[in-house]
Amino acid sequence: MDFKLTDEQELFVAGVRELMERENWEAYFADCDEKHEYPERWVKELADLGIDTMLLPEEHGGMEAGMVTLAAIWEELGRQGAPTYVLYQLPGFSTILREGTQEQIDKIFAFRGTGKQMWNSAITEPSAGSDVGSLKTTYTRKNGKVYLNGQKCFITSSGKCPYLVVMARDAESEKPVFSEWFVDMSLPGIKKNPLEKLGLRMDSCCEIVFDNVELEEKDMFGKEGNGFLRVKEEFDAERFLVACTNYGVAYCAFEDAAKYANQRVQFGEAIGRTQLIQEKFAHMAIKLNSMKNMIFESAWKCDNGTMTSGDAAMCKYFCANAAFDVVDNAMQVLAGYGVAGGHRVARFWRDLRVDRVSGGSDEMQILTLGRAVLKQYR
Ligand SMILES: Cc1cc2nc3c(=O)[nH]c(=O)nc-3n(C[C@H](O)[C@H](O)[C@H](O)COP(=O)(O)OP(=O)(O)OC[C@H]3O[C@@H](n4cnc5c(N)ncnc54)[C@H](O)[C@@H]3O)c2cc1C
Repeated sequence: MDFKLTDEQELFVAGVRELMERENWEAYFADCDEKHEYPERWVKELADLGIDTMLLPEEHGGMEAGMVTLAAIWEELGRQGAPTYVLYQLPGFSTILREGTQEQIDKIFAFRGTGKQMWNSAITEPSAGSDVGSLKTTYTRKNGKVYLNGQKCFITSSGKCPYLVVMARDAESEKPVFSEWFVDMSLPGIKKNPLEKLGLRMDSCCEIVFDNVELEEKDMFGKEGNGFLRVKEEFDAERFLVACTNYGVAYCAFEDAAKYANQRVQFGEAIGRTQLIQEKFAHMAIKLNSMKNMIFESAWKCDNGTMTSGDAAMCKYFCANAAFDVVDNAMQVLAGYGVAGGHRVARFWRDLRVDRVSGGSDEMQILTLGRAVLKQYR
């Protein structure tokens, strides 16, 4: 398989490389991470390059770039230590365009080029994590209005997003009917409780209570009863993006550790000359190479319409774990500086640990992949 990028893709990657080399972004990222702040200034600069709308069709101001291009950009950004995890919502423009009403599209498209957070999906509840089908949030129709009641938790970006697409069950239907609602977060009856996170701290995460929140029929997102089918596609895309992010930061940690191993002298020689340290780099290189191959093959499949949920689960599971191992080994090489010197690998390590849970746990990826593999032989 030919992984060589086209001239256009190379130009895109060169653009983000130039952006990353223009200033010391690491100081900014470290500050945002410490203060739990969204790095809006950096995302705005990416938006100025058209990254926020790159997946959109040309007639909607996009570049019709595919997943291979996205993977190449994420690789470059990650390699330079950037928190690409805050960009998960950017493909959200495509989702809104596909599923939203004109009014919903207009509301979200007003955010194009701003770098600001706009919307996210709210599915998880205190008693419905992996088992999303057991969610209890309801919608009830009364006197021409719709009322939303329930509680969501661990909702990414919800501290700042002006809109959430909330999954709820029809309170009046005997059979389970799950639909989504496009909710303006400034409506009365909504309470947010921010949660403290181990990693991914440049994005917020809240528990949210919906207490008789009054909606209109026009606020339905997509088709009634189609909620889970709609998010299934989104889960696959999100899992693939998590894998790209994980690979990128592992690459960054690997390079930081390699430079350090070649110059850190102990017992009269560079630690990189010792076989125990060389062994770590051999294992890190194998994992990086495997992640890269898996990601670009899956991106190519995605662009050709053949990526399956099994592929997305494989990418997320493998990359989250392989990247964690790489970063953990890089931290071991950096030793004291890795764990106590405010080095960026410590941030990557915390971020990656969260990624083995959020977006679907390791165990759920294994179950999805196992089912997908066996299905091919039925
Ligand atoms: C930082 C963060 C951000 C998130 N963002 C969002 C968001 O934006 N929107 C949203 O809707 N959700 C979000 N989530 C929720 C996330 O998808 C869930 O946390 C995840 O699906 C796991 O659910 P849980 O934490 O309730 O664990 P549980 O489902 O309770 O699982 C607990 C453990 O049991 C395992 N387990 C469960 N069932 C099985 C089984 N059948 N077989 C084997 N093992 C099993 C799990 O893998 C896990 O290890 C986020 C979570 C985090 C941590």
